[in-house]
Amino acid sequence: QLSPAALAVERLTRWADDFPTPGVRFADLTPVFADAEGLRLVIDALAEAGRDADVVAGIDARGFLLGAGVALALNTGVIAVRKAGKLPPPVHRQTYDLEYGTAELEIAADGIALAGRRVLVVDDVLATGGTLEAAADLLTRCGCEVVGAAVVLEVEALGGRARWNHGPLTTLGSV
Ligand code: AMP
Repeated sequence: QLSPAALAVERLTRWADDFPTPGVRFADLTPVFADAEGLRLVIDALAEAGRDADVVAGIDARGFLLGAGVALALNTGVIAVRKAGKLPPPVHRQTYDLEYGTAELEIAADGIALAGRRVLVVDDVLATGGTLEAAADLLTRCGCEVVGAAVVLEVEALGGRARWNHGPLTTLGSV
């Protein structure tokens, strides 16, 4: 029994084989976001997971679209968790491992009250879980309390859920 949000995601997601690299099956959720009903259903379902949050963190870049919508639904602000090099210094930075090499996430270190904030982390797809976990680790290091994460689609075979260590993880659909 799929929820209305999960049905919209199933109907509207565009799948691309071997993108951006061979062997990856890429879930393009932009058609979900472009559909008025799809966007509304997804935002409302993700916001359900954030009842305890007083701020939302959206992960660069599709997590920004979702995070801003969820924040409006919850009447909170949204923190942009950015890929390296996009924010002027000073920043808080977290390095994490990719399959090949490393990547970095950053949050502005000035101007955002972080200590003691109750954060819901939002992104579009959970794959290996490295990105979501790194975002939560970064927020935790900054003094936030991560109250959970909400993601639209979970790629179960990649085991991201097992890597997640920061409270309830809500996903609207899984493949
Ligand atoms: P990971 O750190 O492996 O969980 O990857 C998660 C990040 O990469 C998310 O921000 C996703 O937007 C993106 N991503 C990873 N795998 C896919 C996929 N198969 N389809 C769409 N986006 C993906």
